[in-house]
Amino acid sequence: MFYQCPKCKKTWQYPIEKCPDCFLKLERVFSEKIKVVAVSRVNIPTPLHPKIPYFVLLLEDDKGRKWVQKSVKEYKAGSEFKIESTQDKNAVAIWRVKYDVLEAIEKVVSLIEKINPAVKTLILPTLIAPRHPYFAQNTSPEVLNQLIKFLIQRGVKKENIKVAAQSFNDFPITASAKKSKFLSVCEKNKVQILDLSQKGFKRLQPTHRPSIPPTHPKTENFIFDVSEEVFKNDLIINLPILKLDKKIGIRGALENLTRFLNKESYLGLKYLYGEQKLILSLKEVLPEILTIADAISIQTPNTFTAFSGLILASFNPLNLDRVMAEVALIDLPEYLKSVNLNKIKIVGREIAEVQYDLKSMI
Ligand SMILES: [Zn+2]
Repeated sequence: MFYQCPKCKKTWQYPIEKCPDCFLKLERVFSEKIKVVAVSRVNIPTPLHPKIPYFVLLLEDDKGRKWVQKSVKEYKAGSEFKIESTQDKNAVAIWRVKYDVLEAIEKVVSLIEKINPAVKTLILPTLIAPRHPYFAQNTSPEVLNQLIKFLIQRGVKKENIKVAAQSFNDFPITASAKKSKFLSVCEKNKVQILDLSQKGFKRLQPTHRPSIPPTHPKTENFIFDVSEEVFKNDLIINLPILKLDKKIGIRGALENLTRFLNKESYLGLKYLYGEQKLILSLKEVLPEILTIADAISIQTPNTFTAFSGLILASFNPLNLDRVMAEVALIDLPEYLKSVNLNKIKIVGREIAEVQYDLKSMI
């Protein structure tokens, strides 16, 4: 991705607002036909690049623009550089945010899905507390803002985009929406924000059992009260912020979906069966949901934040959480142990290219 002045055609690798000579807004230009110009092999590990060897590629597009990218795969200088997309609904797409969140969203979504402009879209960000964005407690307002921009750019009408939220604690949802800056993002984009607790719920029972063995005789009697909004929209986007958590490993894609439940139903099931079984069973009653996960700045188990700089996407939230656990090199919680990482197709960037040793950074 480059940024070009429409008049003097000067190009930058990072999004400065305006051309310093012409004062015009820069246009985003995409690179096509990329080839590898030079390759360096790195044999020294660092906390940000723990796995060696890896390669630093100097890439060049057909317009002669150059940039560098890390790769675990070795390329020969002169060979073509191509990123494959996939139709596999269980695949996980990974992209690193350089300067531009919109670019990362465009990239991860285009690798796994084509957005139909006629869709009615419901977005569920993580919104759990009235906290400023820098605490990384709620999804970043910038990620929500750029996702809405991306959908509009793909032809989805503003009036067909809704942002859903629900409070499961004592914080009023309006206070959380305000402090997290979600309210101003929605107002600026003229997008409706919905409090799910004020809407109807539908009673459902999973047909499959979760894959972890039951330890409680009542495990099979899950009954969920799921928001009717989930079934009234065509495209449901789960937009969690990922967190590393002492209790369930990754508080991420799967856990965020519990906000589609009725609060009483959620608290009751959590008390009876525990969070891990609850989130695994919930997946069985929900329709197909696209998860786009904010892993730019993430909370570590001690609730400090660490920079991770990633956006991930998948139609399989369990696979997405498993991939993130691998990226952050955490000890696997029970419910993620059942997922075979080798069977998950990864597109965009390889896990080893974005992996970092979090323990050495905190
Ligand atoms: Zn210019």
